[in-house]
Amino acid sequence: MRRPLISWLRLPLLLLTLAAGNVAPAAPGADLLILLSIDGFRWDYLDQHDVPTLRALAKNGVHARRMTPSFPTKTFPNHYTLVTGLRPESHGIVANWFFDPATGEKFTMQNLEPHWWAGGEPIWITAEKQGVKAGCFFWPGSETELQGHRASLFRPFAKKLTCTERVDGLLAWLDLPVEQRPRLFTLYFDLVDDMGHIHGPLSAENHAAVLAADTAVQRLLDGLAARGLREHTNLVIVSDHGMSETSSEQVVFVEDLMDVTQVRVESLGPNGGVRPNPGTVTPAELAEAIRAKAPPQIHVYLREEVPASLHYRNHDRIPPVVLIADDHWNIESKVGWARRRATYARASHGWDPANENMGALFLAQGPAFKQSHAFADVENIHVYNLLCAVLGITPAPNEGDDRLVREALIQP
Ligand SMILES: [Zn+2]
Repeated sequence: MRRPLISWLRLPLLLLTLAAGNVAPAAPGADLLILLSIDGFRWDYLDQHDVPTLRALAKNGVHARRMTPSFPTKTFPNHYTLVTGLRPESHGIVANWFFDPATGEKFTMQNLEPHWWAGGEPIWITAEKQGVKAGCFFWPGSETELQGHRASLFRPFAKKLTCTERVDGLLAWLDLPVEQRPRLFTLYFDLVDDMGHIHGPLSAENHAAVLAADTAVQRLLDGLAARGLREHTNLVIVSDHGMSETSSEQVVFVEDLMDVTQVRVESLGPNGGVRPNPGTVTPAELAEAIRAKAPPQIHVYLREEVPASLHYRNHDRIPPVVLIADDHWNIESKVGWARRRATYARASHGWDPANENMGALFLAQGPAFKQSHAFADVENIHVYNLLCAVLGITPAPNEGDDRLVREALIQP
């Protein structure tokens, strides 16, 4: 049976591939690195949901059983830990929203001013300082100038962009002349976190979101291949935390635990934080009063007594009294609860990172990485050193070590 060498249907694609590949190949020793975060992608979604592309990458590359996030298992603290190697108590993004007693200002996820972010040096700043261009297609903190540097290319966060549009935006950056093209890229998807919160980790709606993320990763791989860059790209795919079911029966209200007129409530959810108003009670008196009323599922600590394993003591932005709920339980305020309940009814995150449900995703594949190598749990403070090693740059001081470098890379 005769078979043409190249089918006519595929010829245009092949010519396009060759043409594009000739435009901007990666220089030897200068492979690209793409760091992708799929927000809220729990470690076991690889098995619980049908994700052919991510499964194949995990199988052919390196894959940690589960990545242990940092406390609190929230989006902004962990995204900044992933790119700085510092725990939240060290980089200072101690929650998604918090109060800074040093300035009297409140941080929300829209704050870009450098003073909020200056406690850590993110990978794109480390890279730019050492002559490696970075392009950030979204990442918390990536729009902020630090130490007189910022990513060569970045996009202000635009939630409305689909995963596909974000991938296409990054691919367009790869078509820049090679001297303008970054070597380090970040990319961020948030739909899996959204659907996990609203519908639950194993819901059909979350499955659709997980599959959309998987399809977008395949689109990225295809786009790299079409440019002749697939074999010259190291891909690190992570998430910030997992997801755990909640119920409206497992809620404790701050109004039932304390006189809220005496305090500033600085955090709610799987963990809560309160700060006494000046001239009212001391933190110790407040903690004692809360303990007397709290059910056994709510653990109450002075900041300096928070369990050492959580590394959540050493920053003034951490509230003086910290409340930590057991898995599935939430600390809430009666103010605004009806609205939040309607929005985030099914699942959440923020609990102790040791909780299995809080486990995150880590996999990587590319020329720098071992093939078909699975290993045990690893903490997310070690990712930054790995990224620096892949790029061949010197990391800033951080709290990780070289265990992930030795575990994952062909040549540590
Ligand atoms: Zn998140």
